[in-house]
Amino acid sequence: MDHVVCEMSRTERTYVDTLPEGAIAFDLMRWLRYSLCGSTAPPISDQLRRSMKDWGFDIHTVAQDQLPALCYHALMEHPEFRSINLSERKLWAYVQEVAARYRDNPFHSFRHAVDVTLACSFLVKMAQRTYANRAFTDAYAVVALLVGCVVHDTDHPGIMNGFLTATRHPLAIAYDDMSVLENHHISMALALLDLDELNFLSPLSLDRQQEMRAVMRNCVMATDITAHGPLLKEFETLGSSASNLHNEIITMQVFIKASDISNPARPLAVYQQWVGGVIEEFFTQGDRERDLGLKISMNCDRRTVKIPNSQVGFINFLVKPLFVQLCTYLPELRPIALAHVEKNLAHYQAAAAT
Ligand SMILES: [Zn+2]
Repeated sequence: MDHVVCEMSRTERTYVDTLPEGAIAFDLMRWLRYSLCGSTAPPISDQLRRSMKDWGFDIHTVAQDQLPALCYHALMEHPEFRSINLSERKLWAYVQEVAARYRDNPFHSFRHAVDVTLACSFLVKMAQRTYANRAFTDAYAVVALLVGCVVHDTDHPGIMNGFLTATRHPLAIAYDDMSVLENHHISMALALLDLDELNFLSPLSLDRQQEMRAVMRNCVMATDITAHGPLLKEFETLGSSASNLHNEIITMQVFIKASDISNPARPLAVYQQWVGGVIEEFFTQGDRERDLGLKISMNCDRRTVKIPNSQVGFINFLVKPLFVQLCTYLPELRPIALAHVEKNLAHYQAAAAT
């Protein structure tokens, strides 16, 4: 551990000191594996490489131990990952380490992170096709966005911000109740990036690394549900113009946000599997809130919540407005994603009515 700490900057050491004990304890065996083996990601099958590019791809069909390699190869499908001269060996080590930091939650798992990465990868490629040389042309920003997707829920505890603040959890205290989880995810991801063996950006200048870390932070912070309304408003005012980096960052935030809540925009059978996971996670939180005598959070009370109604609300208030707006920017997405949103909404409306 001493060896690891001395690799970290003074700032990050201070951050690590604020974490609950053991939260970022480094596994010596993992450290040795990355340091000595210099391993490269195992290949994935041609069939998987093709199918992972489909919007309707079901990530549940992929074995857990295949997810890190799938994630790495999905990133490397983007030419930007080769053009900016990053360390591919360290990127693979970083992906594995981040994967290990995800907990085995019913919903907020590494599987969800890879799913979000694939969705965002799809959107980026569509935007690059649609706008040729006028959108997503900054290779460094594209890399930061997609890595941001991979790390966006790192070490998620399977409970929501409201629970952390209500119970005065150390993370809520550390972040003064503001975007507690999102701050935790990105801070942990960036602290890992400060470990030399994991810093795939190390061939780049320090200034460039700082810029990319800032883009990662902007993207991950945008996944806070409270950022949804203001972000959507800002995106609406852009129209189809994403011609400067400021506008592009807003568009990137919308992309990661849309990818994060894209389950209802997928085929119903895929969406339903995610619904099962998220409801299990919510109800488990609700049980803990009941046991602690706390107010039970929205959608978390297994005694009163009707799952179809919860999904109708989720789609109507969050998913549909975002995808409608996204499809004005990417019209090609309308028949691919918005069509599923409409169909899935009709499905759950019918279920709610019975
Ligand atoms: Zn997420």
